[in-house]
Amino acid sequence: MADRKAPAKIVAVEEDPEHVVVTSTGEVRRAPMIYLDEESVGRIKAGYVCAKCFEAQDEAFPERCYLCKFPMRDKQPEYVAKNYQGIVRVGSATSIEDEMAFMDEWAEIEARKQARMPHKPSIWVPREI
Ligand SMILES: [Zn+2]
Repeated sequence: MADRKAPAKIVAVEEDPEHVVVTSTGEVRRAPMIYLDEESVGRIKAGYVCAKCFEAQDEAFPERCYLCKFPMRDKQPEYVAKNYQGIVRVGSATSIEDEMAFMDEWAEIEARKQARMPHKPSIWVPREI
């Protein structure tokens, strides 16, 4: 189990070819696709990590994120439902270390012949900046 105070673990960030964001200055940019590990997504869904800035919180669903002031209590479940794209297999964007970790994990899971889901990265696409 990771440190509860640790921010979400970002596995990779890429530009999303299908979505753009418009900044407050009117600039149009590609939306970032942020890949998080599955445990981090679980912590976001449970309200212990801010869905906007990925900082760990002292309690589940505080009224506002202490760092970016995102209204977690009111808005996070909706924000998560809108932005969470599900679990994906990350290919070339992962580091060698991550790849090795996946390989080890999968080998272990195979060996145990468990029906459990392997620990895969999840994709996160913020639509508002
Ligand atoms: Zn925040």
